[in-house]
Amino acid sequence: MVILIFFIVHWFGSLFFQTFFLHRYASHSMFTMSRFWERFFYVLTYLFQGSSFLNPRAYSIMHRMHHAFSDTERDPHSPKYFSSVFGLMINTKNVYMDLISNRIKPGENFAKNVVSWPALDRFADNWTPRILWGAIYTLFYVVFATEWWMFALLPIHFLMGPIHGAIVNWFGHKYGYRNFNDTHDHSQNTLFVDFLTMGELFQNNHHKFPSRANFATRFFEFDPTYPVIKLMHWMGIIKLKNNVN
Ligand SMILES: [Zn+2]
Ligand SMILES: [Zn+2]
Repeated sequence: MVILIFFIVHWFGSLFFQTFFLHRYASHSMFTMSRFWERFFYVLTYLFQGSSFLNPRAYSIMHRMHHAFSDTERDPHSPKYFSSVFGLMINTKNVYMDLISNRIKPGENFAKNVVSWPALDRFADNWTPRILWGAIYTLFYVVFATEWWMFALLPIHFLMGPIHGAIVNWFGHKYGYRNFNDTHDHSQNTLFVDFLTMGELFQNNHHKFPSRANFATRFFEFDPTYPVIKLMHWMGIIKLKNNVN
């Protein structure tokens, strides 16, 4: 039971900060926030992603490339060009590493207004803290696991951020239904009620309206991150730019 709770908290916590902070804020600037809140959410993103922390600058540039070149050869992670999800993950990692080490020089459009905290990135994007996080997850399992098979879940904790990315990028451009056929890509809405990926699998809706904070567009679709964004807007923590429902 403790392991199940830990898994659920880590899965949804990591996912929430990926969609809320890295995707909707850092990559698409759907809302603004003060420097204090930006740093606050930056730290929370780090704490929840832990061993698989994704550098917000590299994430945003790569994601903007994904929108600009969606499902073409210049897309960092289109399932159209890979025979398996692992090939897609490896290529995504290679583009990410090239951005981190400046082997790819993004055009000005891609690097505009990127959110970055160089000191935290330098600390977090290293093997020592990543391995320490892995050791903490393992220790938690050693203390609380009641069945041997539970340890099979550990690799998911180690690679939580990239696994979420792979699920969204693979399924979201391969399987599902389309509300909008004029998006010039293969984006799909994979889950009609998207609890498991916090709204991220409404890829077709999102590619049609990339700056819209609500990823659901039809009456039977529900994006669980959007009410949280509305609440934060209402509380004055963030300010939605494009206040469409
Ligand atoms: Zn996409
Ligand atoms: Zn996007």
